[in-house]
Amino acid sequence: MFVTKPRLFLSYVFENKFAVPSFNVSNLEMARAVIEAAELEDAPVMVQTDFINFNYGGMDELSALIRVLAEKAPVPVLMHQDHPGKDSNIFRSLRRGYYSVMYDGGHLPLAENIAGTTRFAEMAHESGAILESEIGLFGGEYQGGEAITAAAHDTAEMVEKSGTDTLAVSVGSVHGQETRLDLDLLSEIAKSTGIPLVLHGGSGIHPEDTKAAAMLNVYKINIGAALINGFVRGLEEAAALPPDHEPRHQQILRHVIGRLREIARNRLSSFGASSHGKRLLTKLVSAKDDFSGRVQKKEASAICCRREEGEDVLSEKQLERKNLA
Ligand SMILES: [Zn+2]
Repeated sequence: MFVTKPRLFLSYVFENKFAVPSFNVSNLEMARAVIEAAELEDAPVMVQTDFINFNYGGMDELSALIRVLAEKAPVPVLMHQDHPGKDSNIFRSLRRGYYSVMYDGGHLPLAENIAGTTRFAEMAHESGAILESEIGLFGGEYQGGEAITAAAHDTAEMVEKSGTDTLAVSVGSVHGQETRLDLDLLSEIAKSTGIPLVLHGGSGIHPEDTKAAAMLNVYKINIGAALINGFVRGLEEAAALPPDHEPRHQQILRHVIGRLREIARNRLSSFGASSHGKRLLTKLVSAKDDFSGRVQKKEASAICCRREEGEDVLSEKQLERKNLA
């Protein structure tokens, strides 16, 4: 299913306390692999394209092929526009049917970031889409240089003053690198904002931290590097395989798709998204309209860290600290 009710998608994931991987794709093989993985896991999934993907695959071409694959899928697929590169690409992606878009203002002074976010939130909402904004910088590839950690008072101000639906927060993850998160800071941000949060640089975040993050209002985790590395390794492996009955280039790319599918299944499963696909799809189909208001938790106590049966996400020390908070 190609999702056209993004707030309903958002609220289901948020309420059920799991995270959806949002996979960067730049060709048919990557898009097919992640959507097949979602089908095999019965999971909702997000498929995203940033300006680097656009430069390679073309905005018209990539949005069209993601849409076709999503429409045929038996699970919800929300198409998202990641780092736009320039603001005009946000208008272009809204016109091409993206129901979730990002405004890239993390490098700006807070007041300018809030002003830009407010402007693009209005545009996105007029189109029936949701907007992701960013506080701090994730560094590494895309943004270059060092990561800049988000300040909790900035995130609260952003949510209060702009109409952003979701907020990407830099709390330790870096594009394309292995990292541990600052869970105390993330917890503070979760309490002061109440809206769904996003992590970039998700490929290298320690698995324990991604689980903890889903309990701290993170609903979306971007995965780029894991698929890029998997694609290259898959090509190398396949080039060494003996030829079979299939045309050689297809044999190689089929092997690559299989490898990417396993990487995507692993992320969907470890983020807790498995088995939610058809349940969410039923809700999306039966709802007449998308939600009209902001998806936000009002009570700080409901946001985080309630230990549920069978979960061992946070350490005793962290739980104790949060129970006291
Ligand atoms: Zn990013």
